[in-house]
Amino acid sequence: MTLPEHVRVAIIGTGFSGLGMAIRLRQAGIRDLVMLERADDLGGTWRDNTYPGCRCDVPSHLYSFSFAPNPDWSRTFSGQDEIWRYLRAVAEEYGLEGDIRYGHEVTSAAWDADSGRWQIDTSRGSLTSDVLISGAGLLSDPATPALAGIERFAGTTFHSARWDHEHVLAGERIAVVGTGASAIQFVPQIAPLAGRLHVFQRTAPWIVRHGDRAVSQLERRLYRSVRPAQMVARGAIYAGRETSVLAFMHPRLMRVAEMLATRHLHKQVIDPRLRERLKPQFTFGCKRILISDDWYPALQRPNVELVTDEIAEVREHSIVTRDGIEREVDTIIYGTGFHVTDTPMGDVIKGRGGRTLAEVWDGSPKAYNGTSIAGFPNFFMLLGPNTGIGHTSAVYMIESQVAYIVQALRHMSGAGVLEVRQQAQDSYVNDLQSQLGSSVWNAGGCRSWYLDRNGRNSVLWPGPTWRFRARLRRFDAEQYEIASRDAAPVAAPSA
Ligand code: NAP
Repeated sequence: MTLPEHVRVAIIGTGFSGLGMAIRLRQAGIRDLVMLERADDLGGTWRDNTYPGCRCDVPSHLYSFSFAPNPDWSRTFSGQDEIWRYLRAVAEEYGLEGDIRYGHEVTSAAWDADSGRWQIDTSRGSLTSDVLISGAGLLSDPATPALAGIERFAGTTFHSARWDHEHVLAGERIAVVGTGASAIQFVPQIAPLAGRLHVFQRTAPWIVRHGDRAVSQLERRLYRSVRPAQMVARGAIYAGRETSVLAFMHPRLMRVAEMLATRHLHKQVIDPRLRERLKPQFTFGCKRILISDDWYPALQRPNVELVTDEIAEVREHSIVTRDGIEREVDTIIYGTGFHVTDTPMGDVIKGRGGRTLAEVWDGSPKAYNGTSIAGFPNFFMLLGPNTGIGHTSAVYMIESQVAYIVQALRHMSGAGVLEVRQQAQDSYVNDLQSQLGSSVWNAGGCRSWYLDRNGRNSVLWPGPTWRFRARLRRFDAEQYEIASRDAAPVAAPSA
């Protein structure tokens, strides 16, 4: 399908963010929109992460759109394939396919102050838009460590978010680098196939019991026939998860959870020396809490080795650790996470004066309400700075932002230029940072992807998510400069 020359709203991405945004815009009567998708299918994170065992760690009744409940989830915590299918079904139900341009990677999006429009270049042509909305996601660009000597490696390498399904792992000598949320899901799946599996752990994570189970036919029938029943289930999951927020903000309260996780470790790992190496050295909750029943058992398989010495170098057919031990490997799989606070999107989006997001942010992403950025008129970011959460569903945050943006667009009534005031953004960001200072993420003694290269927590929302929703319930126009196209505000952004 060809690109239109101009649209009112251009949306980047077709994950939960992009799809949710498009649906709500259409419901608000804004149909002049296009979704730009770099891949050849929709689904964002749930399209890209196809690694064995990929499963959401938030219950599905909550990890789904509030306006599109799925009574047929097969498990309480659904797998990647089922969530991906859900997103495709939602897109079909709301007739979004015609608005999506696949294979259109946004290579540059620059604010043109003269026309009061965004000039967008994609890998397959250009267009302009009045409004630009990024739904590019937090966890979309894989981060691969620059291991010394990796260029000499003659075997296969791939990242968990770009799983090579053509590659046969059976019988191979495999190295897995990383022990985060992704690795703890795929390691138990590939361990039985591997000839030998070496798991390279830099930091031992806290792990708690999973609790996933099949959703019975009776439950599904109930959700199908009595819709409020599913809303009650969703509400109960939401409320239960919100009660844990207090402990994230007051780390001393994490002791109970730490005890439960320690008990899980003792129950599943008998060897005290192995247990010692698997014992986390930071406060529970400082990094994302991992849930798994099969991670510790997988590490105790006779063909699996946990390596805690740092990787010194990679050779043609092996990995050498600092203690001098050389392990022969055929394949290296990276479970090493994503570019989060240094997202490549930061170089693509250019605001006033041609300054990129990356230049303005200088390593510390900042936004007003996690959504609007001073110096970037008519631009909104879904799951922007400090909208991440560790305890509940990101979809809840997305829907809060989507409702706010729809109101903002109504306020602009099609012809205007809207930009958050620098002062409003600064005071919002300072307030968030002071709340985060004593949180477990900042003070829990760990280094995580929540902290940017300047050591600031630019990822997480501090506190209950209903407070975020309440804050964004009304579009606070007084915090914005609103002008007609001909008289756009000219204040330059401060770094
Ligand atoms: P991650 O949490 O960032 O974990 C990356 C792992 O790689 C960590 O163990 C890290 O060690 C290690 N690592 C990074 N660079 C390394 C290096 N140079 N040498 C050795 N080890 C290195 O990434 P992820 O597991 O892909 O998960 C990312 C996020 O995706 C999660 O936090 C979660 O939000 C989301 N996710 C969610 C689910 C779900 O079920 N919903 C599943 C998967 C992922 P350190 O700890 O020492 O840094």
